[in-house]
Amino acid sequence: MELKNYMETLVLEQLDSVLAKYPDCCKCERCRQDIAILALNNLPPKYISSNKGSLFMKLQTMSMEKSIQIVEQLAKAIEIVKKNPRHGESERV
Ligand SMILES: [Zn+2]
Repeated sequence: MELKNYMETLVLEQLDSVLAKYPDCCKCERCRQDIAILALNNLPPKYISSNKGSLFMKLQTMSMEKSIQIVEQLAKAIEIVKKNPRHGESERV
């Protein structure tokens, strides 16, 4: 049995287009990961099975309302990471 949190895919799909609106936000791997994690923790998980039959469900899941919610959470996460970037910390360890 393989389960996947489809919300993760949706968030990663939107991440770069939302980040593009914040030219002053760092876009390194660490910051992008932090943004994705912060946004995902504020969004309800959407579990799907990863077999082919779930494609229809994937399309259903992507409602306009959800998409706005994701963009909102990503924008909030970007504001947080922009003010407190953690990329420097890990490099020193
Ligand atoms: Zn960074």
